[in-house]
Order: sequence, then structure tokens, then C-alpha cells
Amino acid sequence: MKITIVYDNEVKKEGLGAGWGFSALIESEKMPPILFDTGADSPTLLHNMRELAIDPKNIGIIVISHAHGDHTGGLPEILKRNKSAELYIPSSFKSAFPSRKVTVVSKDTVQICQNVFSTGELEGIEQALALKTEKGIFVVTGCAHPRMRHILEATSKFGKVYGIAGGFHGFHDFKAFEELSLIFPCHCTQYKKEILDSFRDKALKCGAGLVIEL
Ligand SMILES: [Zn+2]
Ligand SMILES: [Zn+2]
Repeated sequence: MKITIVYDNEVKKEGLGAGWGFSALIESEKMPPILFDTGADSPTLLHNMRELAIDPKNIGIIVISHAHGDHTGGLPEILKRNKSAELYIPSSFKSAFPSRKVTVVSKDTVQICQNVFSTGELEGIEQALALKTEKGIFVVTGCAHPRMRHILEATSKFGKVYGIAGGFHGFHDFKAFEELSLIFPCHCTQYKKEILDSFRDKALKCGAGLVIEL
């Protein structure tokens, strides 16, 4: 499985744009490409996609973590360019998508593909993804508005969690990360520097253009 960070507050690959928001493309041979969140604005999202040779038409599934504009901003333009992608949205995202297959995610976990699961909408606001890999579960979060312990607890239902990428918001109870072996603090993570310093051997910088091979 491969994760490409398409939109982030920071840039990792020259030529890409940054913005306050998050979007990642998740690819694996066994499933259609999944776009997790869509950043804050479509010009930056589409520019980065072009630079990364990602064709919006090829996206098979779009997952929206939560209804905040820094995760949904690019969605209308992606939907204009892609008429067939299925959507998985949390129930708190009140939006209509006519003639589109939409799965509204509530409290319960949802299997999206063979190795991709949603935690369900945690604390009524946000879903995170659990990716099943040979090494264990890799977690992708949007903003992590539900507490991190809650997200790790929810994702560990699918297996032992070994890594995480995404926005961690104000998370600072670093003990919760001790068992992990791969950490990418992205987007809104307030304690990026502290996380990178505390876990020097396993925490790595995030940014648009970063590719994570799982
Ligand atoms: Zn948010
Ligand atoms: Zn955010």
C-alpha cells in the first residue's frame, strides 16, 4: 500500500503548493485509489495532483474525515472532474450529492475495501482510517478532533497499530505513541517539533509530496 500526501500545511516536494488543510491518496493493487480529504482549496489541490501525476478521474473512492473546510474545500472541483467516485462521509457532514453513491458513516465501523476500514464517526465529528498491512494497522487521521486515545483504541479493533499519519491537532500525551514504529505528524499537529524530537528514530516530517510506502 502507498500513501501520497497531496495537500498539507507544509511542502515536501519542490513545485508543490502548501495550504492549511489535508489530503492524501491511498493506493494498493487490490483496490481503487482512495482520496482521503480534499484540502482547503481546489487550485492548490489540483495543482499538486497535476505535479504528482494523479488524475482526479482515476479516484474510485473519496473519504471525508470531517466537515471542516480545510478537509472539504477541494471536493466540489474533484466531483466536477470525476462523476463516478463513491463517497464515504461522516453523518455530521450535511451535504447532498445527487446521483452519486454515498455511504453516510455513523457510530459503527465500516469496511471500505478489503484492507481499508473506517473507525466510524467518533465523538459525532470525525472518522479516521485503519489500513491493514502485513506489518499491522496504519492509521490515517484528518484533524484528530476526537481524542487520540479514542482514535488509537478504535483503530486497534482491526489489529495492532504500528503507524500513523495525519493531523494530530493538540495531541500531546506522547506516551500513547510509544508502541508505534512509524509516525508522521502532518497538517494541524500543534506539537510537531516535540513529536519529531521525542521519537527521533520513528517520527518523520510530513508535507505535500511525501510518499509513504507501507
Ligand atoms: Zn477540523
Ligand atoms: Zn484540519
